[in-house]
Amino acid sequence: EPVCPSKGLTLSPRQRIVIWRDIQAKKRAGVDTTELEAAYEYQGIDTCAATGLCAQRCPVGINTGELVKKLRSRKATHTKTANWLEGNFATALQGARFTLHVANGARMLLGAPRLAKLSATLTRLSKGQVPQWTNAMPQPEKAIRFSPVVSDARPRVVYLAACVSRVMGPAAGDKEQMSLYDKTRGLLEKAGYQVVFPDNQDSLCCGQPFASKGYAEQGEHKRQELIGALLHASRGGLDPIYCDTSPCTLRLVQDLGEVRLDLYDPVRFIRTHLMDRLDFTPQEAPIAVHVTCSTQHLGESQALIDLARKCSNNVVIPEGIHCCGFAGDKGFTTPELNAHSLRTLKDAVQHCSEGISTSRTCEIGLTQHGGIDYHGLVYLVDRVTRARAN
Ligand code: SF4
Ligand code: SF4
Repeated sequence: EPVCPSKGLTLSPRQRIVIWRDIQAKKRAGVDTTELEAAYEYQGIDTCAATGLCAQRCPVGINTGELVKKLRSRKATHTKTANWLEGNFATALQGARFTLHVANGARMLLGAPRLAKLSATLTRLSKGQVPQWTNAMPQPEKAIRFSPVVSDARPRVVYLAACVSRVMGPAAGDKEQMSLYDKTRGLLEKAGYQVVFPDNQDSLCCGQPFASKGYAEQGEHKRQELIGALLHASRGGLDPIYCDTSPCTLRLVQDLGEVRLDLYDPVRFIRTHLMDRLDFTPQEAPIAVHVTCSTQHLGESQALIDLARKCSNNVVIPEGIHCCGFAGDKGFTTPELNAHSLRTLKDAVQHCSEGISTSRTCEIGLTQHGGIDYHGLVYLVDRVTRARAN
C-alpha cells in the first residue's frame, strides 16, 4: 500500500481489488452496477500505473497491476490499429518524431512560456486529449544511423536502444544535450567495447506499449521478433546485450524462454562489465537518484544507489517515492497521477544539481515535478570516469 502512486489520489491496491470483487458480487446478485463501473473506470483502472510495485510488498503476492492490465484488455477494441502499429512500427516512430518536431518548432517560435500557456488552453479545451507541453518535454531524436560492424580484437556488446531513446532526446533546458544513444555508445567504447546493433532496429520494440494498453498478443509478437533479432546480433548469445532502458529490459527478461540471451539493464551492465575498465573520480555536486519500478523488479535498486555513490559524494534518494506514476504514457494521459506521486519531490531534491534514472519517460515527469534536470545514469558515469590504463 505505501508504494502505490495512486493511494490518496484515487484508490489503493487493496481498495482496487475489494471494489472490483464487490462489483462482481453485485452483478451476480442482479444489481445494476453501471454507475459503479463507470466510476471504477477512472478510480480503479485509469489511475493505476500497472507497474505491479504493490505485488512486491503484498504478503501473499497479489499483483493488482496485472488485474488492471487484464481489465484494460477487455476494453482494448482498437485491434486493427494495434495490428497496423505492430507491422509498421518504424513508420509510427517517425510519426512520433514528427510530433516532437512540431512541438519543438512551436517552442522556438513562441518561446517556452507562451507555448506552455497555449498548450494549457488546448489541453483544457480537449478535456485532456492533447497533453500539456512543459519545459521537461523531450526534443525529437534523430533516427540512429548504424555503422557497419568491423572485425577487431575488442569485445563486442550489442546495444539495444529502446524506442523511447530512439525518439525522445534531451529536454531543451537540460545541460546534457547529447543523445542518450551517443552518450551510451561513447561510454561503452571508452571502456574498450565494440558496439554493434541489431538489424532493422527502428522496427523493433519489446512490446510494452501494446501490452500495457491491453494488446497482449501484438505485444508478444513484437517481443518475440526482438528476441530473434537479439539472438542474431549477439551471435547466438555469445555477446552481452545492453538495453538502455530498464522497463524494456524487465519486459524482455520476464518469462524469457530463450536462455542463450545475456541481457543487461544499464545498472547491471555497468557494475558487471565496466567497473574494472574505468576509473571513477566522484564529483562533489549533489545528485538525486530515482530508482524506477523496473529497476526494483530487476533487483538492482541497491546496485544503482551504490553506483551513484561511486559517482558523487552527495547522493540524495527522496524518501517515500517508490513509483513515479508516469508509467510509459500516463504522465501525458493522466498527469494527475504523476503529480500526486511526485508531490514531495521538489523539496527533497532542491539542493541537487541533477537527477539520474534509467527510463527516459520517467525522467520527463521527474524533471517537471522535481525542478531539476533528470537524465540517464550514463551521463553521470561518463562524466566522472576515464578509461583505466592497462
Ligand atoms: S500497480 Fe502500481 S498503481 Fe496499480 S495498484 Fe499496484 S502500486 Fe498502485
Ligand atoms: S518498453 Fe517501451 S521503450 Fe522499451 S522497447 Fe519497449 S516500447 Fe520501447
